[in-house]
Amino acid sequence: MKLKLFALSAALVAGNSIVEAQTTKTQTQPFNITAESFADLQILRYQVPGFEELSLNQKKLAYYLSEAALAGRDIIYDQKGKYNLLVRKTIENIYTTYKGDKTSKDWNNFKIYTGRFWFSNGFHHHYGNDKFVPAHSFEYFSQLVKNSAPTGFPLNKGETLNAFIQRLKPIIFDPSFQPKMVNQAPDIDNVKASSNNFYEGVTQKEVEDFYAKFETKGNAPSWGLNSKVLKQNGKLVEKTWKIGGMYGPAIEKIVFWLEKAIPFAENAQQKDALQKLVKYYRSGYLKDFDEYNIAWVADTASRIDVVNGFIEVYNDAIGKKGSFESVVSLKDLEATKRIQAIAKQAQWFEDNSPLMPAHKKKEVKGITAKAITVIMESGDAAPSTPIGINLPNSDWVRKEHGSKSVSLSNIIHAYNLSSSNSGSLNEFAYGDDVKARIIKYGALSSDLHTDMHECIGHASGQINPGIETPDKTLKNYASALEEARADLVALYYIMDPKLVEIGVMPNLEVGKAEYDSYIMNGLISQLTRLKLGDNLEEAHMRNRQLNAMWAYQMGKKDNVIELVKENGKTYTKINDYNKLRDLFGQLLREIQRVKSEGDFEAGKNLIENYGVKVDQALLKEVLDRYAKLNVKAYKGFIQPKLVPVLKGNDIIDIKVTYPDSFYKQMVEYGKNYSFLPVMN
Ligand code: ZN
Repeated sequence: MKLKLFALSAALVAGNSIVEAQTTKTQTQPFNITAESFADLQILRYQVPGFEELSLNQKKLAYYLSEAALAGRDIIYDQKGKYNLLVRKTIENIYTTYKGDKTSKDWNNFKIYTGRFWFSNGFHHHYGNDKFVPAHSFEYFSQLVKNSAPTGFPLNKGETLNAFIQRLKPIIFDPSFQPKMVNQAPDIDNVKASSNNFYEGVTQKEVEDFYAKFETKGNAPSWGLNSKVLKQNGKLVEKTWKIGGMYGPAIEKIVFWLEKAIPFAENAQQKDALQKLVKYYRSGYLKDFDEYNIAWVADTASRIDVVNGFIEVYNDAIGKKGSFESVVSLKDLEATKRIQAIAKQAQWFEDNSPLMPAHKKKEVKGITAKAITVIMESGDAAPSTPIGINLPNSDWVRKEHGSKSVSLSNIIHAYNLSSSNSGSLNEFAYGDDVKARIIKYGALSSDLHTDMHECIGHASGQINPGIETPDKTLKNYASALEEARADLVALYYIMDPKLVEIGVMPNLEVGKAEYDSYIMNGLISQLTRLKLGDNLEEAHMRNRQLNAMWAYQMGKKDNVIELVKENGKTYTKINDYNKLRDLFGQLLREIQRVKSEGDFEAGKNLIENYGVKVDQALLKEVLDRYAKLNVKAYKGFIQPKLVPVLKGNDIIDIKVTYPDSFYKQMVEYGKNYSFLPVMN
């Protein structure tokens, strides 16, 4: 299961009024939200309101958990590609020790490559997963290496600098070498075609056969979540990520900091959860991981919380291997009220949903919803971040013990601030009334969408008895279908008077604002993230186009959604919001049926027919329009820095500071949190 939500339409296209509306909430002093920008990336900064008011023990807890988060940073690089640590150490050494001209165009191109590499945790684009290469020549690279500190390069034993440079040539410069980090294309060997480091020398069929032998009945763990699969003497084996196993040196550091944190746990449940996490990192047993998740879900009272582990499976084409990530947070008490009002009605939403009766959960269990203020993100959650998280991913743990659903409020706030004056709304929205409505309600509608996607969307529905989990039945389409399903729940209910009744929105205009943003984004503005020739790969993008395109096609006879052409520009226009809601309900019912019955063919057809193909003429038009706006397609964050204040050996306070350079932070992290050796 994939339960990560990326920045949504309204937040990205919102204009000034949203910024004003949000500013009053958290900010009094001017804080520069933006930092470096390069390539298609904008670096942002976020604040941690509320940190100062924490008790010293809570601050210490947050500090130790943040160090545990950063300690695992190397792991995500290695998971995304076995050469990533080699390349990172090489370019970091050049970046920090090169003695030549740093004003040239070549140097600037090297800097851009380095920034992109850090942003993506490797040399594949963080969103599109395609390999990127430097804009400067290999000859220039060779000169960079020769004019940097020779001792800083991870040479093999006895290797000359020249041999080292030659070894790196295809790795860095050949776009056809490891062209894709994860490849979801249909009818190919998705394991072989993906260059991540989850598998080596094995085929998709071999991996599927290997895991088919594991017990899946009852409360089985998520087999394969924490290991690499490779062949030894012709047989498939797992190399487990644990202390004493693969990634052992980094995991030891994670555990070191977790153990420092444990004495400062806020209550018995939290202490129990942290102890179980340590146990799991030591044993590598996935049953221990389930035990940890059960304890973690039970801890709802703590102000400080943490996600730390091998969690999301997006980076694996067949959805088995968990990427390392960590998010340390404190509860945002104010925003939590809104999300809890929705969560409290989870059973009502389930009972009144358009699902077939057999696919509805009879009893929706323990969804703990809250809004959090992020303190630290690491691994797969940084620098590019989710804005909503719903964990744990294990279906049976969710069913029997519930799940936690969170919305990352200070991150969303920073996104909204940065979107001011972006001009996207003006360019892509059709009609002044629609624009005005999005300006007025876009931030709220986007928040509500996120809340519902996470806390009632993913949590709704049930699989038929005897049907296996979606990663087995729906395979490479499972992620996109799951995201589509969660979005559709949110879309269906954002036009429901129930939300007005429970006091989370003033009127249905909020729902209309969300429909306008969603359809515009799904059919048009999200294409700004592609390049000419591309079709859609990423699960969330596929899901948004699927939902919008299906509704467009199915509503054609009633003219529910119109594609308007004006002055060579294409716009979406919704003519009937209620019919659109009905269409979203129909698609939700069908996708739930696909999941409940494990109907692979139907799921595949939905994605391939509606969620993948991009009209290249439209794409060209959108890219031309977008280029004129001069805004960056992707945003990511510099992390705050927690600094202990010492008196003798005692920590008497922890201060949160806000570094202003992404490059400086990446260099500092590379220096302080490199715990894995480069494997040559
Ligand atoms: Zn999701």
